Amino acid sequence: MTRVRRIPPGKTIGILGGGQLGRMLAISARQLGYRIGVFTSEVNSPGAQLADEVIVAPYEDLSAVHRFAQRVDVVTFEFENVPASAAKIAQERVPVWPDPTLLFVAQNRIREKSEVQRAGFLVTPFAPIRSVADLEPALKRVGPKAVLKTATAGYDGRGQGIVSSLEAAEEMYAELGYGECILEAFVPFERELSVVVARGQTGELVDYGVFENAHVDHVLDCSVSPPRIEPRVEEQARLLARTVAERLELVGVLCVELFLSPSGEVLFNELAPRPHNSGHLTIEAYSASQFEQQLRAVCGQALGSVHRRAPAAAMVNLMGELWTYDLDGAIVREPDWQSMLKHRACHLHLYGKRTPRLGRKMGHITTLAETPELALQKALAARSALLAAA
Ligand code: AMP
Repeated sequence: MTRVRRIPPGKTIGILGGGQLGRMLAISARQLGYRIGVFTSEVNSPGAQLADEVIVAPYEDLSAVHRFAQRVDVVTFEFENVPASAAKIAQERVPVWPDPTLLFVAQNRIREKSEVQRAGFLVTPFAPIRSVADLEPALKRVGPKAVLKTATAGYDGRGQGIVSSLEAAEEMYAELGYGECILEAFVPFERELSVVVARGQTGELVDYGVFENAHVDHVLDCSVSPPRIEPRVEEQARLLARTVAERLELVGVLCVELFLSPSGEVLFNELAPRPHNSGHLTIEAYSASQFEQQLRAVCGQALGSVHRRAPAAAMVNLMGELWTYDLDGAIVREPDWQSMLKHRACHLHLYGKRTPRLGRKMGHITTLAETPELALQKALAARSALLAAA
């Protein structure tokens, strides 16, 4: 049993990473009375805008990480692609949650799939790729249609591509830089699902049920809760997530992303040891959000309630595509915030990113309603209003 290391309000929580997840963690931390330190490689990041202490340096700068650890009382992550050496340096001085050993598993698609397989669950069929020679036998095993992904450091659809022939696989492997990759069977899924689990230092475990997700170009577009799936599938998905959290001795928040296959099987795709885009609706839809749970867990507090505040909720992402650009990429029109804000049942979240870009997550909208269909309909209508003619 882990010794509980309690960090009371008033102390400083250090976040490695300065993106929107760090920003929403910081908002929640401020509400709970904590101070915030952010370590980020990016100037003027969304998280740093809300922090009390900011260090801008590469994650590889271990002396900067050491300085950061001296200014905070506990360290957590909003971004998992932090070098293990940085997490270890921080751990010499303060508690670091989730533990860097969990990070080590979650940073590599081959390691995480192998771990979930060992736990007795189905995963997307896969083969490790470590050289060009691995491609042909791998494609024979998992193909003919497959997805080639970098084993590490990929996110939001970056570092992956669909391949249906050896030539295409070789081309994609070259494009991905010949590093360690994974070739996965292309799953013609029925639905994409995710489960966010929080686990405290005493082993207390909660989840928010299953979220149903839709992606566009490999990037999350919208999530709804509750999902429109059979109770059997929901139980299986939750069991998988809770088992993985326990096996990896999670302290904090973890999300598993899953595919529901056409034959009704739940297949593990990937895990993220941090709050997740599909869990953003927990801010309005549940008593305690995924961000509050992460803070409670890493500070050794009891977890918050996962009582639902509404029968259904939906979240839609706001991407850089909602801005209008000229041929040089300069912004010629902002989204129509006034029209959107007339949708009074919608909650707008903007991440404070100065430069919108195609494919960049700029914010999201959450709606609560009586049914998932109605919630999604309202959220989509509010998003469409952003494109209203000027
Ligand atoms: P990932 O980075 O693994 O979460 O992939 C991003 C998105 O790409 C997923 O949510 C799916 O929409 C799609 N995708 C990834 N892997 C596969 C696969 N093996 N089969 C079908 N679609 C996939």
